[in-house]
Amino acid sequence: MTRRLAPGARLVLATHNPGKLREIAALLAPHGVDVVSAGDLGLPEPDETAPDFAGNARLKALAAAAASGLPALADDSGFSAAALGGAPGVVSARWAGETKDFAAAMARVQHEIGDSADRRAWFTCALCLAWPDGETATFLGRAEGSVVWPPRGAHGFGYDPIFLPAGGSRTYGEIPADEKHAISHRARAFAQLLAACFA
Ligand code: IMP
Repeated sequence: MTRRLAPGARLVLATHNPGKLREIAALLAPHGVDVVSAGDLGLPEPDETAPDFAGNARLKALAAAAASGLPALADDSGFSAAALGGAPGVVSARWAGETKDFAAAMARVQHEIGDSADRRAWFTCALCLAWPDGETATFLGRAEGSVVWPPRGAHGFGYDPIFLPAGGSRTYGEIPADEKHAISHRARAFAQLLAACFA
């Protein structure tokens, strides 16, 4: 059985991405854990050298757990377009460059899809909970949808304004956070984490 997090336990959120931090803190809020961020603890950001989401989530969570001596939760996630063979995928953050210019990253997605009729897209999220002794548990969530152009809405972060969830009429950029938390890739991975790891 997966090791469980006791009520009131201190948990490090091993992300330096403010958008993810906000969403994961909101998902954790009702569950009585004492959350502290990697940034607050001054933990370094490890290089994401794994070839997939699960591997990168694991290396970030393990690094934060080892450095802090506390259980740590990391997210690795990204946006994929079918017409681009799943790109940008694990390098979603890198498409925005050093300046984190997601307007440019979204424009690149649109440019590379070009006049392809295939507008299918999805977000993937891997969440990894790691313990200071090296034990880990990893959960994957995926949300299907399509790419719209031009971008719509100012909510969320990253690629949200060009992602129209399947069956919806508003992009992730147009829906408030609580609606995104009901349907997103991160919420789906989180639901599994909750069932397996929370007491
Ligand atoms: P990483 O997991 O730190 O490599 O970064 C993942 C990148 O994927 C983020 O910087 C965003 O660009 C993108 N991404 C992940 N989840 C979301 C989301 O929920 N909305 C929009 N973009 C996301």
